[in-house]
Amino acid sequence: MEKLNVEVKARVADPEEVRRRLLELGAEEMGTFLQTDTYFLTSKGRLKLREVEGLEEAELIYYERRDEAGPRACRALVLKLPRRASGALREALPVRSVVKKSRTIFRLGPTEIHLDEVEGLGSFLELEVKTGPDLGREEALGVARELLSELGVDAGALVPYSYGDMVAGAGRGLRVLWAPWRMAYITRAHEAGGCLLCRLHEEGKDEENKIIYRGRTCFIVLNIYPYNTGHVMVAPYRHVAYPTDLTEEEMLELWETVNMAMRAIEMAYSPHGFNIGMNIGRVAGAGVEDHLHVHVVPRWLGDTNFMPVL
Ligand SMILES: [Zn+2]
Repeated sequence: MEKLNVEVKARVADPEEVRRRLLELGAEEMGTFLQTDTYFLTSKGRLKLREVEGLEEAELIYYERRDEAGPRACRALVLKLPRRASGALREALPVRSVVKKSRTIFRLGPTEIHLDEVEGLGSFLELEVKTGPDLGREEALGVARELLSELGVDAGALVPYSYGDMVAGAGRGLRVLWAPWRMAYITRAHEAGGCLLCRLHEEGKDEENKIIYRGRTCFIVLNIYPYNTGHVMVAPYRHVAYPTDLTEEEMLELWETVNMAMRAIEMAYSPHGFNIGMNIGRVAGAGVEDHLHVHVVPRWLGDTNFMPVL
């Protein structure tokens, strides 16, 4: 099955009020479902396995979309499979995050509406306007915008992230990125010898060491000498010096994690842009020599750091 629909997601402060307005508009309430979505680590797009409590059939869903907050078109491929096959998939594929939610589904004309309570994230509204022979993409976008305004959702509440992203990295990074910098930590790290990145990830004191995310092969750590607020480094666990030393899996996850770091920083700080880069070897300006790492530095128009090179 292939579809090209318009989807919007927004945070809602008062889900009961949204429900009341939906019913007032004549929406039909279809029921409430407990869903578990397992997001897998993929090189492009998003791949998730959806299991619904009480259903014997699971869905494997692949979709691609840009992280835009407004109504957007979304291309999805859906494969139905027996739920007992789920375990095998989780064995075979690297799991990125698991999202549990209670979803109430409404229908209103060409639109399916989801009112979601997401474990650890809060309340959200999702609109999915199905396009078809009678409803082109532009018209579907119009339907979505009109319904949002009728439900009292303004543009500031729109969320460009999938729940999987929010659980996997952005949501988690968001909290930690808001924590104040600690001078004591900076001084201590400066005095210690050896490879800083190896020590940080081996010490097992992630909170103290400001490791805000751990993937399968790499991690994100707040930079101890930040060029700018929100500056993080993404590094493989393995002590390797050159990008050419990375395995394919490490390389893939490294860039996936750089993207995740950018999304987290965007949520926390709304920067105007980023500097992203690597310094290889001390002669190039590497502070942590011989342990490859990618700097992700948020930038604001007129910020004080002039940094054409990291
Ligand atoms: Zn190292």
